[in-house]
Amino acid sequence: MSFSHVAIIGLGLQGGSIGLAVQCFLPHVRTTGYDADPATRVRARERGLVHEVCDTSQDAVRQCDLVIFCVPPGAMGDAAREAAPALPKDALVSDVGSCKQSIAKALGEALPGYTVILAHPVAGTEHSGPDAGFASLFRNRWCIVTPPEATNLLKLTELVAFWEALGANVEIMDAVHHDLVLAVTSHLPHLIAYTIVGTASDLEDVTESEVIKYSAGGFRDFTRIAASDPIMWRDVFLANRDAVLTMLQRFTEDLTALQRAIRVGDEQTLFDHFTRTRAIRRSIIEEGQDDGRPDFGRSDHEA
Ligand code: NAP
Repeated sequence: MSFSHVAIIGLGLQGGSIGLAVQCFLPHVRTTGYDADPATRVRARERGLVHEVCDTSQDAVRQCDLVIFCVPPGAMGDAAREAAPALPKDALVSDVGSCKQSIAKALGEALPGYTVILAHPVAGTEHSGPDAGFASLFRNRWCIVTPPEATNLLKLTELVAFWEALGANVEIMDAVHHDLVLAVTSHLPHLIAYTIVGTASDLEDVTESEVIKYSAGGFRDFTRIAASDPIMWRDVFLANRDAVLTMLQRFTEDLTALQRAIRVGDEQTLFDHFTRTRAIRRSIIEEGQDDGRPDFGRSDHEA
């Protein structure tokens, strides 16, 4: 891994976790960071999320050889334009954004001439901000790297090595395919969670105290997802609109099929469907992507 100075723009969950992980697993690498929110910069200094928290993004990137933009998807272009005047021409530009095609466009336009190779660590929690990060966030999680077609292979290899050093398993993927896969594995589940939690809170004949009291019936797990950062998720749905709408259409058709099975009393269809989905849950646990213990075995430092 040949980076010697990593600049992190955005010191929330992802940026803070990268800063802590680099200090833990790549102790010879210098880290600088910047966040637009002054209160976040204060807290980042207190927590030591990076070696030096700078008061401008240009100071943060001045001598870096890798810059990672860890801001909401809709803020990537502005953050890159702000840093551009001080960013060394040979620095590798990367990110952690949850959707790749729109961010590739935004960063490409903001930083013409730079090598841009994007990445998405599929690791997160419903928490955000400078107190949310922790060094082991990426351990045994997938990080999807989406290089453009004609890319700098040396820099790609270095970026892969960087994420592997932080504990991630790396997969190389085309940005279009990434956006489709994540639409179904991440974006659609969040949309469903946001919807169902909203529906429950709007019901007139079920009281709010009943919703909270009986939440362990399944609702509680949706509320964890629906507590995710509103700015980030607003940006994700708008930035990955086409793939989300494609998957939503497919989901609606499948939901209608189950609705019909319930209405006509089609036991077999319901049983077969639930058996298939239970097997998928087992595979996720077997591959170490979640915990089989009740309550998903979650603690604050696992997601
Ligand atoms: P976060 O905890 O909210 O941190 C983002 C930080 O960036 C905030 O402190 C924000 O400040 C700051 N910021 C916004 N615009 C900025 C700018 N122009 N320049 C500098 N700082 C700026 O969010 P996060 O969860 O780390 O998410 C960051 C990125 O990671 C997103 O692109 C998201 O798609 C991706 N991601 C998230 C997860 C997850 O589970 N959360 C998982 C994988 C990938 P303000 O609070 O003042 O806006």
